[in-house]
Amino acid sequence: MHSILKILSAFCLLVTSIVAAQSSSYWQQHVDYTMEVTMNVDNYQYTGTQKLVYTNNSPEELSRVYYHLYFNAFQPGSEMDIRLQNIQDPDGRMMTQEKKSRIASLSDEEMGYLHATSLLQDGEKVDFQEEGTVLVVELAKPIPPGGKTTFDMVFRGQVPLQVRRSGRNSEEGVALSMSQWYPKLAEYDFEGWHADPYIAREFHGVWGDFDVKLTIDKNYTVGGSGYLQNPQEVGHGYETPGTKVKKQKGKTLTWHFKAPKVHDFMWAADPDYLHDTLQVENGPMLHFLYKDNKDIIDNWKKLQPKTAELMKFFSKNIGEYPYDQYSVIQGGDGGMEYAMSTLITGERKFGSLVGVTAHEMAHSWFQHVLATNESKHEWMDEGFTTFISSLAMNEVMKENKQNPFEGSYRGYYNLVGSGKEQPQTTHADRYHLNFAYGIAAYSKGSIFLSQLGYIIGQDKLMETVRKYYEEFKFKHPTPNDVKRIAEKVSGMELDWYLTDWTQTTNTIDYAITGLEGVDGKTEVNLERKGLMPMPLDILVVFEDGSQETFYAPLRMMRGEKENPYPQFTRTILEDWPWAYPTYSFTINKPMENIKAVMIDPSQLMADIDQENNVWQKGE
Ligand SMILES: [Zn+2]
Repeated sequence: MHSILKILSAFCLLVTSIVAAQSSSYWQQHVDYTMEVTMNVDNYQYTGTQKLVYTNNSPEELSRVYYHLYFNAFQPGSEMDIRLQNIQDPDGRMMTQEKKSRIASLSDEEMGYLHATSLLQDGEKVDFQEEGTVLVVELAKPIPPGGKTTFDMVFRGQVPLQVRRSGRNSEEGVALSMSQWYPKLAEYDFEGWHADPYIAREFHGVWGDFDVKLTIDKNYTVGGSGYLQNPQEVGHGYETPGTKVKKQKGKTLTWHFKAPKVHDFMWAADPDYLHDTLQVENGPMLHFLYKDNKDIIDNWKKLQPKTAELMKFFSKNIGEYPYDQYSVIQGGDGGMEYAMSTLITGERKFGSLVGVTAHEMAHSWFQHVLATNESKHEWMDEGFTTFISSLAMNEVMKENKQNPFEGSYRGYYNLVGSGKEQPQTTHADRYHLNFAYGIAAYSKGSIFLSQLGYIIGQDKLMETVRKYYEEFKFKHPTPNDVKRIAEKVSGMELDWYLTDWTQTTNTIDYAITGLEGVDGKTEVNLERKGLMPMPLDILVVFEDGSQETFYAPLRMMRGEKENPYPQFTRTILEDWPWAYPTYSFTINKPMENIKAVMIDPSQLMADIDQENNVWQKGE
């Protein structure tokens, strides 16, 4: 090799190593599951083998790993059971009519369990020990950074009779709702291990590829995550339309699914499922599996074109749906999102059926592609999902609400009024009340975005959402990631927003304290009563019916949004530095010309006292 070439190639090496060093500041683990499972539909017990190839992309050597064994939660005396007995407002779906924990009353044949019966690491036996819903595994040999290891496990499980997300024989008669059913490797990320016990909620998984063979009674129709690899052997509506399926000998069928780039794998099965499909134009194939129950068939047929519209709405407004399939399946105990699919209860009024489908499908973006840790940042998946599905419902169901997020604001004001609020940084299992968790995650989480639109402008908000998806898809984004995207898109500084809104229970309360006539002009006096800072849009309505707006930017955001009301003249006022409790500005018209003044006519700013936001003549 010529010396000049040598120098050049050495230089190239240097460049690539610098690039590699930069991109390794973010890393994530990788799993490849190959499972073979046999389900006994008479006693709801199942056995399986699992080959798991685990890639350690972390910079650390690992000497221990953890698996989740979620079904062990459904046993008398489990943490889930005890929590249910101690929380003030337990989930009604898990309580008997006498208001007792249903888990506590499950017999040996009714409870859930999932046990590893053997476990090898690269052919060597390892020590493993069950601690409730978590399996602690001391490795035979440590996995070095960048190393791969293969775990071979044999496991057995029983599906609980109590349905909480998963379980057997749901109230609507669905035989098997199988989520969190397999030994699932816990995630290890930049914060360390996330081997949370299964107490109530929710999930965090490792990205990877799944290859699952499921053997089950041949009368059962199966749906869930993953593409069916053998549709012509299985049939049940998966075969190419108009083709014949070979009759299988024996009592069972083996279904072979593959799900690439997911962090979870769900399936559901029932002997009475109807199965419809609908191809979305330039989108995925939709599958609908629901009970052959005459009371619901009509709604489930009408749901199908609406689901296609929702799919298009989300793909357009967030980013393209990255899989070729999505399944809406009747099962579970309400609505829950899974990879490429959802389980929802199906005996609902039409609006509610579309609403739950919209919410769960939106989770395909905010959780199943943008995989935030739901236990720690529950507001990022439940809240963002609520935000985008509120917009989608407004359009698809032609609700035409002026403020599609109205319900979220109402819920949040109610929580603040109750005095039970805890900051959104609370672990999802550690809220005093389920009520406080629900509002913090869904409503306050949704307002994080709708109110961000008030701060940076609606166009910038939607640009933030799309950019967030583009940059963090198939990763584990954190609160700071979404804030940074919003900052880059808007040019504003938003740390104050993330901090006050998500890490404290500080509230927003701005007030108009009065108007004063001064030399033929009008001075408007304002006060910041709450601790949380905000920029202000102020609308002035004159006696002649004309309107004008004023904008008081917050100094610490170091920027200004575009005029949200281009139909009116807007005056950009001096910044309002947060520490000053009061602020005044002047309207160049005499006071008798002014009919009303209002802070934030959009009502997207979550001001907890709306009454003092308005000044009206004669009041
Ligand atoms: Zn949700």
